[in-house]
Amino acid sequence: MSLAVYNTMSHRKEEFRPREEGKVGMYVCGPTVYNYIHVGNGRAYLVFDVIRRYLSYRGYEVLYVQNFTDVDDKIINRAREEGKEPGEIALLYEAAFLEDMRALNVKPPDVAPRATETIPRMIEMIQGLVDKGYAYAVDGDVFFRVESFEGYGKLSGRSLDDMRAGERVEVDERKANPMDFALWKASKPGEPAWDSPWGKGRPGWHIECSAMSLHYLGMGFDIHGGGQDLVFPHHENEIAQSEAFAGTEPFVRYWLHNGFVNIQEEKMSKSLGNIILVREILKKYPADAVRLLALQTHYRNPIDFGPEALEEARRAYERLENCFFALDAFMARPGLRTAPQRTQREVALSDSFFDFERRFEEAMDDDFNTARAIGVIFELAKELNTYLDEQERYQTPAAPMVASHGRDTLLKLCNILGLFSPEAVEAESRGAGASSEETSGGFPTAERLIELLLEVRAVARENRQFETADLIRTRLRELGIRVDDLRDGQRWKYVGPSA
Ligand SMILES: [Zn+2]
Repeated sequence: MSLAVYNTMSHRKEEFRPREEGKVGMYVCGPTVYNYIHVGNGRAYLVFDVIRRYLSYRGYEVLYVQNFTDVDDKIINRAREEGKEPGEIALLYEAAFLEDMRALNVKPPDVAPRATETIPRMIEMIQGLVDKGYAYAVDGDVFFRVESFEGYGKLSGRSLDDMRAGERVEVDERKANPMDFALWKASKPGEPAWDSPWGKGRPGWHIECSAMSLHYLGMGFDIHGGGQDLVFPHHENEIAQSEAFAGTEPFVRYWLHNGFVNIQEEKMSKSLGNIILVREILKKYPADAVRLLALQTHYRNPIDFGPEALEEARRAYERLENCFFALDAFMARPGLRTAPQRTQREVALSDSFFDFERRFEEAMDDDFNTARAIGVIFELAKELNTYLDEQERYQTPAAPMVASHGRDTLLKLCNILGLFSPEAVEAESRGAGASSEETSGGFPTAERLIELLLEVRAVARENRQFETADLIRTRLRELGIRVDDLRDGQRWKYVGPSA
């Protein structure tokens, strides 16, 4: 089976063939760091995190680049409002972004360049475009001449006439065409500024992404991703600048765009006042429930992040979590011995695990259809629950082996999507370990008390007092603390109280 991806450029699914066999170069537009990110941005980073994870699972060596736009009008305005320096604002929200991504268990990029650290490369590109006649300077600003680039509009499928009719363009007498866009902006007093052949100024947003992606990935790299709202003008402009500068095409082999986020069937937007921040959601819902919600819809479709959808995702997440609990509890039973003789039913079940894996891969190979892939995961969980119910009535000799195989398969498929991820469990345990040394005003922290309870639980299990051990786990779960029994001991994680 080959992997098919939907390319916004061709409006169809294409067989994925990277520039270099076995390797994928991937660029995703990073945040403009002037605010906490909302779930609309959050969705994009979750989507491309899963695409990246799946490509790695498929055996590709992925180089994932995602920038920080740390110089921009929005940052300058925010700094003015708060009486701070733009650089301060950028660093503050960059740190907040990293925190949110960690909390969502999004893998950090391999390279995360800041725009302000790539300025010489941008100036070089702009100069090249001026030299070739694709750009012109007026009073310290430099504009890209859209009419000089024949393919302008090929990504968004709009002609220059459509654009002029569709967009409200500020009238700027100095521009040759109203759609010409700024590559370089002369700085006003008090704004961040860099020396350039056109005087002191700063780069426009579009050139930043071209310069950074080309610098790290080179012309013709494999995947450029971002939200649908970036198709025009941002990505259209990136193509024009990059291909005009290089004198070759394509800039990018596959353009991938994720759909919008709605809140209770309304588009999430500042003007409607229904913006939801990632960090607000994570106060109420486990990160994996948010991830599950994001992946239950195909990435190109719109998605609803309203409270009802979130509650439903939480319940779905708990169904999966309970399946893991039940499997662990079954395998942790005292005196459980395994014999290799499987029943006919068990042979068929074990075979079906491979079938689940195959169907999961087929779904993901079809333009990363996570909605279908998650459907496969839930079907498998249901099968396993049924099997455990059967074991309540009559325990078969090979049951521990079959249950363990089923659990491994379920966990493997979840992990490919970043769900129940071992890194997340480990990071949580590390965090807990580090803070367990601390006390607040001499009073032990919650972490230390939890560790103490788990110690007691381990002793109870050793003494075969399973009711006590189960009681501790159940009561902790009610408080929002999930305990997993792993081969090498117990791990706990704060996942929020269950509804
Ligand atoms: Zn970009």
